[in-house]
Amino acid sequence: MDSRTVALVRTTFKAVAAEEGGREALARTFYAILFTDYPQIRDFFPAAMDAQRDRLVQAITYALDKLDEPEKLQPFLAQLGRDHRKYGVRPEHYIAVGYSMKKALRQYTGTELWTDEVEQAWDGGLEVIANTMIGAAAKETTPSAWRGVVVERREVLRNLAVVRVQLDQPMQYAAGQYLSVQIPSRPRMWRYLSPAVPPNASGEVEFHVRSVSGGWVSPAIVTNTAVGDQWLLGSPLGGLGLPRNTKRAMLMVACGTGLAPLRAQLMAMAQRRTNPKVHLFVGGHHPCDLYDLETLSQLAMANKWLTVTPITESDENPWWYEGPTDPERDLPGLEPRLTGQVGKVVANYTLWTDRDVQIAGPPSMVQTSKFRLMAAGTPADHIRHDPLF
Ligand SMILES: Cc1cc2nc3c(=O)[nH]c(=O)nc-3n(C[C@H](O)[C@H](O)[C@H](O)COP(=O)(O)OP(=O)(O)OC[C@H]3O[C@@H](n4cnc5c(N)ncnc54)[C@H](O)[C@@H]3O)c2cc1C
Repeated sequence: MDSRTVALVRTTFKAVAAEEGGREALARTFYAILFTDYPQIRDFFPAAMDAQRDRLVQAITYALDKLDEPEKLQPFLAQLGRDHRKYGVRPEHYIAVGYSMKKALRQYTGTELWTDEVEQAWDGGLEVIANTMIGAAAKETTPSAWRGVVVERREVLRNLAVVRVQLDQPMQYAAGQYLSVQIPSRPRMWRYLSPAVPPNASGEVEFHVRSVSGGWVSPAIVTNTAVGDQWLLGSPLGGLGLPRNTKRAMLMVACGTGLAPLRAQLMAMAQRRTNPKVHLFVGGHHPCDLYDLETLSQLAMANKWLTVTPITESDENPWWYEGPTDPERDLPGLEPRLTGQVGKVVANYTLWTDRDVQIAGPPSMVQTSKFRLMAAGTPADHIRHDPLF
């Protein structure tokens, strides 16, 4: 896409997004048009559309951000296209989506901003997006979705469960990628989860799921998942993964279940002969939030290239927690636990300018940590994280 097209597309979107509540209103209008003009498409979506609307806006914002970086946009859209096969999406649905998006934007921007040139720019942009997604989906030979049976559910904290799923056939995801998952009690409410283990020939996947208060899906997974439940899983997504350059040392920063994609990579690395040095900082609010220190202790003990430092914001556990105060104290191979806000502690620890950095966890923690590392001199292009949906 040429720079003029990119600029026109971004300017129109920014004009809408800049208004108070503009993004949400645009998403609302878009879905209203889509469901009115193409009622047959409504069946692809869940009854409750609030989370869906947020994700659409975030995905568009992400794609627009990367419009002039085809080397990043192209794989993102290709993955999205492969993942969308699970809905049974056909090329005509992309036309419906493009048409509804333009109509919604036109309503919002008004005729003054929505010129013929702007319309053409959006046609070009939407065509690139649709063609990339359709093309990648058409070429793909893996299943459109995997079936998985829950073989274990373990509650490790009262709001966090480890769930192991046996897939009907192995999936070739890269350690560090994430998958969209649908559970039986929440039809059409797909949510992203990151496997906490590398892909394996037996097709077993482990997920770490935290219950988000007021959420539709995560509380249902943590509380109600039972052995034998049938899950559906989409194609792998995301750009985290072992770097090709195995010489540059790595810094990994995880908070909460953000540990899962980093742990999967560490486990994959433990199977390789040579690895760069890795320093993993694993954070949580309370000491008890560091739910997987035993695995990390074993990994650090067995692999000299790995250093693990736990961090918590508070030294105290919540009143309801009945386990040990310092879960890391009796575990060998771990560095002493530090206290403070994760991004701040990591950035102040030493200079990380020459590291490959991966950050995983809640969006606010990822953004703060990235900001602090960049402020301390780590180049932005050394830092990777998943889209913050
Ligand atoms: C790339 C990626 C990988 C992910 N991997 C995992 C994983 O391995 N394990 C895991 O437990 N979760 C993971 N998530 C988060 C997960 O996909 C869901 O967003 C989360 O479980 C909430 O879903 P829900 O249906 O319960 O809440 P929703 O019904 O979607 O949201 C309800 C409310 O909670 C807010 N909310 C949503 N997510 C959060 C959050 N994380 N913290 C605070 N408020 C939130 C929403 O803004 C909304 O207001 C991942 C997300 C992404 C983008």
